[in-house]
Amino acid sequence: MTTAYKITEHHYDMIVVGAGGAGLRATFGLAHKGLQTACLTKVFPTRSHTVAAQGGISAALGNMGEDDWRFHFYDTIKGSDWLGDQDAIQYMCREAIPAIIELEHQGVPFSRTDEGKIYQRPFGGMTTHYGKGIAQRTCAAADRTGHAILHTLYQQSLKHDARFFIEYFALDLIMDADGACRGVLAIDMAEGTLHLFRAHGVVLATGGYGRAYFSATSAHTCTGDGGGMALRAGLGLQDMEFVQFHPTGIYGAGCLITEGVRGEGGILRNSAGERFMERYAPNAKDLASRDVVSRSMTIEIREGRGVGEHKDHIHLDLTHLDPKDIHEKLPGIAESARIFAGVDVEKEPIPVLPTVHYNMGGIPTNYHGEVVQLKDGNPDAVVPGLYAIGEAACVSVHGANRLGSNSLLDLVVFGRAVANRCAETIRPGQGHKRLPSDATDRAVANLDRLRHSNGSTPTAVIRDRMQRSMQDHAAVFRTRETLEEGVRQVREIHASFADVKVSDRSLVWNSDLIETLELQNLLGQALTTIVSAENRKESRGAHAREDFPDRDDATWHKHTLCWADDAGNTRIDYRPVHMYTLDDEVEVVPPKARVY
Ligand SMILES: Cc1cc2nc3c(=O)[nH]c(=O)nc-3n(C[C@H](O)[C@H](O)[C@H](O)COP(=O)(O)OP(=O)(O)OC[C@H]3O[C@@H](n4cnc5c(N)ncnc54)[C@H](O)[C@@H]3O)c2cc1C
Repeated sequence: MTTAYKITEHHYDMIVVGAGGAGLRATFGLAHKGLQTACLTKVFPTRSHTVAAQGGISAALGNMGEDDWRFHFYDTIKGSDWLGDQDAIQYMCREAIPAIIELEHQGVPFSRTDEGKIYQRPFGGMTTHYGKGIAQRTCAAADRTGHAILHTLYQQSLKHDARFFIEYFALDLIMDADGACRGVLAIDMAEGTLHLFRAHGVVLATGGYGRAYFSATSAHTCTGDGGGMALRAGLGLQDMEFVQFHPTGIYGAGCLITEGVRGEGGILRNSAGERFMERYAPNAKDLASRDVVSRSMTIEIREGRGVGEHKDHIHLDLTHLDPKDIHEKLPGIAESARIFAGVDVEKEPIPVLPTVHYNMGGIPTNYHGEVVQLKDGNPDAVVPGLYAIGEAACVSVHGANRLGSNSLLDLVVFGRAVANRCAETIRPGQGHKRLPSDATDRAVANLDRLRHSNGSTPTAVIRDRMQRSMQDHAAVFRTRETLEEGVRQVREIHASFADVKVSDRSLVWNSDLIETLELQNLLGQALTTIVSAENRKESRGAHAREDFPDRDDATWHKHTLCWADDAGNTRIDYRPVHMYTLDDEVEVVPPKARVY
């Protein structure tokens, strides 16, 4: 029986869930447009994972050599292995330039060239003249770009009149009978009280779900809560099979060494000291895109050319770089290598291994940030009142593989887009329609059930099983055997959640309960990831199947949609890839072979 909970109601025009780069850009944009906006966040805004972004944010400013947003458009499509929607990619690459200038004016302390322009470094897959030259396109604030951006965006949000509810954990979306989103139910973690936030629109900016895996560069808070809420609301998630492994996580610790290190001249070497990327990507070498580099490293290790006692990792060598450049451009990396690998980067190479880093898949949206679903044959049917941005969303600009420095860009471009869209469609201060009296029942019942769950398996045990199974079965290389076994195991682990044991029954700072709610969200995404991966019988971008080594455009040039209910039943369908642009400023890039 459900305990009675008192629920406090709040009324706003817009609610943003999440205060990372995406959530903050949307929050202050909405407030700036005169919409009454509240932002809920489970961690203090400047502790969101965006703070950890190192390398930079892309935009074809051309500060350090010739560049054009059309080159950026082409690179992003090729990087996506042609799974990205070309209208959205055009929007992002063209808007990148004003978006970065805007960040500069808002106060982001970018590194500078001698002439005082924003400093830009090379990054993987970023080229000029459609693959011919190497572009310097990634704008950086040393190797702490996310930190600089997040703090600036928080200051801007405070300057505008946005209301923050900090350390509030969003539990579930409140959907009406017509399938429109009408608000969100949240728990104030400090006091244990429940709050219903009514709004004309809810923006999910909850970040990725890297913690579905055992070894990930993402923070422990990256549990894909937005995706979990979307699944419970009966919505499908898109392209979940595409999980990015970053080539250079520190061996053992998993924390990230930015691609900016290779952008500044760092080199990957095998046990023979060979710069092996020359064999795999003769042009781009160490700056080929991430899926290509991660696979090459995995092959080197498999073929016995790994380094270390167990020959199970690779070296990232910076010893030939000028120490002055390391101090100026990569100070954080030198520190991380010292602390987490015990290495002095001026004298020794850093031990690295491909590590889960980014989720290309997520809640499907159009380039306005509106959530879309397949409905009555319409693949682009908008879900009224619901928006998603940032890593939680799948716009899809990254398709099957994201290029480094395109995520920070995605946050600010689509955070801004959603604010603009809502300013066009929502009139400030409109009254809220009546909600049925049972509108929050499902969400409250779920909370109450988990709070009192008295099974035999602690949350941490189920989480550990899920993370290890995902790491083993949905890895850099995939086969029918590993994926089928993974589907079987993850289904079983998902089902074992019915037997979860929560020991703490209180509501005040109940981290046991919060971690259980997060695990529930992770499980839905682990399941949709492995099921979608087993289903896609081709190799594209980050999804590399040894049994289907080629890309198969005839059958698989389409987005996967995957639904999962509480009982673990899954269903798959598809949406077409948008092979059109917004206007004639740029032409559609038809699929071709992807070589670097
Ligand atoms: C180590 C690292 C380095 C990176 N470096 C780069 C880089 O150099 N360039 C680049 O382009 N990309 C980089 N990325 C990727 C990029 O940083 C992320 O994809 C991006 O920051 C995600 O931002 P976000 O706003 O979507 O979510 P996040 O920054 O993860 O924020 C999520 C927000 O949602 C809130 N939230 C989540 N669940 C709930 C809930 N249930 N209730 C209330 N609030 C909730 C959290 O409190 C938080 O505020 C990096 C990623 C990592 C992990």
